[in-house]
Amino acid sequence: MTEKHYGDSSGFGFKNKASTQTNKISVKTSSKSQEEETDSDNSSSFSSKDIETLKKAGHIASQVVSYAKSIIKPGMPLLEIAEKIEAKIHELGAKPAFPVNLSINETAAHSTPSYNDESLASGLLKVDVGVHISGFIADTAISIDLENSEENKKLIDAASKALNKAVSHFSLSSTLNSIGSTIEKEIKSLGFQPIANLSGHSIEPYNLHSGITIPNIENSSTFEISQGLYAIEPFTTNGLGSVRDGKPSGIYHLEKAGSVRDSFAREVLEFIAEEYQTLPFCSRWIHKKFGSRGLLALRQIESAGLLHHYPQLIEKGNGKVAQAEHTILLTDKEKIITTQ
Ligand code: MN
Ligand code: MN
Repeated sequence: MTEKHYGDSSGFGFKNKASTQTNKISVKTSSKSQEEETDSDNSSSFSSKDIETLKKAGHIASQVVSYAKSIIKPGMPLLEIAEKIEAKIHELGAKPAFPVNLSINETAAHSTPSYNDESLASGLLKVDVGVHISGFIADTAISIDLENSEENKKLIDAASKALNKAVSHFSLSSTLNSIGSTIEKEIKSLGFQPIANLSGHSIEPYNLHSGITIPNIENSSTFEISQGLYAIEPFTTNGLGSVRDGKPSGIYHLEKAGSVRDSFAREVLEFIAEEYQTLPFCSRWIHKKFGSRGLLALRQIESAGLLHHYPQLIEKGNGKVAQAEHTILLTDKEKIITTQ
């Protein structure tokens, strides 16, 4: 998944974490800027055992992407694709870190089938896959052309080349500006626009978007990357180069600790807190576990203000959008592309 920011591009840095997160997760509540945080935090020194788990999650994510490429055909129901991909993640010994995102054409991200979805694979399809093992996350995405279009292929190629350039450039002490500039320059040289208000992100255990944004455009940030886990994810478009919020996606994450009056809704809430913690989940998963009653319960939990509901993200000029993404682990010794 990706991170949308709402301010101007000078705002790259830590998200304002107004929300409190629940259980087991250490949360940065600091309002300091990234520049003041250079000695901290994302470095969260992974043990060698943690690193092995991160590599394993990445390897599974990579196998799942290959599997997705092998099964997806034009006209295949998105619901079937999502179910097969998520089943494959379980089969390989991991769990989805978020519902597989299957976003078509001008929908850039944050779209996943509902339990009764009837839409079919077509056009320029982004497949964004998250895998975790005990909270250790891998986040990776590819784009597939399902209509034999030269323009689609060029957009996909540009996203992929920008990702490769950014990954090569990415190292301890690269600045956010140098990373964003590398991506923007490559995409523009290939005749397209980067999506300015979508970014990569730092990742921590059970925390998919843990605070640092990795921009896809030139910016004014001199913040230097330190040890940690990061997703880099350029988006290319032949549209305007930014996204707006679309309709609700049915993808949520638990945002606040709290309770609901209805006892069944409480049971669903407890399941969400236990099973997903603060990782994204979707209404389709709740329907699978609890049936239609689960969807009513989900609405009550949402009404109680405990959930963040992700909107779909739509390219502002309705341009087509391609995405490429890898997860990268930076330690003092090495740079590991876990999802390669
Ligand atoms: Mn991501
Ligand atoms: Mn992703």
